[in-house]
This record gives sequence, C-alpha cells and structure tokens, in this order.
Amino acid sequence: MKTDITGTIFKIKRFSIHDGPGIRTSVFLKGCPLNCIWCHSPEGISSDIAIWHDNSLCIACGQCVKACPNSALKLSKESESIINIDRSICSLSGDCVNVCPTGAIQFTGYKISVKDIMSEIEKDILYYNKSEGGITLTGGEPLYQPGFSSEILKACKEKNIRTAIESCLFCDKETIDRISEFVDLFIIDMKIYNKAKHVQYTGKSNEIIKDNFRHIAKSGKDILVRIPMIKGITDTKENLNAIEEFVHGINKLIPIEHISYNPLTENNYKRLGLGFLLKNSTP
Ligand code: SF4
Ligand code: SF4
Repeated sequence: MKTDITGTIFKIKRFSIHDGPGIRTSVFLKGCPLNCIWCHSPEGISSDIAIWHDNSLCIACGQCVKACPNSALKLSKESESIINIDRSICSLSGDCVNVCPTGAIQFTGYKISVKDIMSEIEKDILYYNKSEGGITLTGGEPLYQPGFSSEILKACKEKNIRTAIESCLFCDKETIDRISEFVDLFIIDMKIYNKAKHVQYTGKSNEIIKDNFRHIAKSGKDILVRIPMIKGITDTKENLNAIEEFVHGINKLIPIEHISYNPLTENNYKRLGLGFLLKNSTP
C-alpha cells in the first residue's frame, strides 16, 4: 500500500448521511472531465488549486490587499464582489489566506497524502460499524485521480471499512477495473440520456459512460443511480424515462434516486469569479 502518495482534494466531510448508506466520511477530490453547466461544486471541476472569495464573510478590512506580494487583489466599491482577484497574476503564495480574519478568502483545494486522509477516516470507524456506513469518494470526479483514489480505497479495505465511489464514469475501462475490487458500492451520476444533449450540457458524449455502466452492472457490483433534477434539462419526463429504461433494461433491481438541486449553487460560481451558465441556459 502506498500511503505516501498524494492527491488534491477540496473537502473532507465527516458524518455525511447523503452519500451512501449509514454514517459516512465523504472525501471530495478535485478534477472532473465533464463540465456540467449546473455543477454544484465548481471548485471541484479544475484539478488546479486557486483562491476564492466569499462576499458574505468579508468585512472589507483590506488586510488581504495589503498582504498580497503581487498586487492581485483590489478592494472594490462598484462591483458585486468586495474583493476583485486577478487570478492571472496570483502566485498562490497564500499570504491573503493567512491574514484574512474571517476566512473569506480561501484556497479551493489542497494536497494531502493517503496516510493523512486515513487518519481522518479512521476517527469514525465506530460510527461506520454501527450504521453500516463507511467512506465515499466523490468530487469533482474521483476517477480523475485513479492512482490516488485506488490507494485510499485499498487502505480502507485493509481496515475493513465499507467503500463507495460517486462517479460520472467518464473514464477508460482499465480505471474501473483497477479500483473495482476495492469498491462496495458504485454511486453513478447519470444526467442526460440523449447523446447530443449530453454533449451540449456537459461538454462530453455519454457513450463511454453507458459502456462503463454496462461493464460495472455485468460484474455484479452494487450500483445506485442518481439523477440531478435540473429544471427543463434533466428532469423532463422524456429524459427520466429514457434513463430508467436504459438502467432497468440492464438490471431491474438497480435503484434510481432523483436528487433535488441546491438553489444556492450560484454563490459558489461568484466565489470563483465565474459566470453561472445554468442561469441563462434553462429552457
Ligand atoms: S494567494 Fe498570494 S498572490 Fe494570490 S492573491 Fe493571495 S496573496 Fe496574492
Ligand atoms: S482580509 Fe478577508 S475579510 Fe478582509 S477584505 Fe480580505 S477577504 Fe475580506
């Protein structure tokens, strides 16, 4: 087991009850091959670390502006955000993060070793055992960092901790085969059945995803399908029926959950200084 291997994550959430059965620790990995216009964790799409600014926590003290060695930050009275960030000249020195008294300015992720993740995970083994919970790798897309994910899953299995992975399955089959033996439950995000619409709203075709789904289902692994309910895009009768026909055409016993959309998602785009495409794209 390579516990010194490191990867990039943006969050570890203990006592999670929405990412699989029982009480779980969810590890959110950075990087995703898709670019869904509704993504509720846009900080997880890029594998690069950046900084973000949360207006609701900012008291406009200007400490970060003074501390920045590159003059990448400006206090703004006119724009919607109190601090304007020029990310093209930010060197990620972290000076702003260190001086901010409220945590309004933060890195969007951090490097961590498998060993350090396991120290967090192992704190709640008792809860996993009592609730039939465990850990869930999510993101972003955990299979975007296959080596790192596979070492975390392996380390969990060594400790008899149940494992789940939440994935969009946009990866090669070898990646799935590499991690499959260490995964108890695949939580598969299926978004849009129609290929052209999948390309339109996520940036990629879903052919690989469908192939990988068949591959996992054939192996007999436990699967839970999740569909994010995006108004007028994924929540149409046509789309929901098509996904259900596809999934249950392979195995009638695979459960399908509809996941309601968090209306506060737009704030995450503002923190990153990104436009929120969903706002103008909903039919
Ligand atoms: S991380 Fe460093 S360079 Fe980037 S904005 Fe903050 S202080 Fe400036
Ligand atoms: S240091 Fe923090 S609270 Fe102060 S202006 Fe900068 S982001 Fe806002």
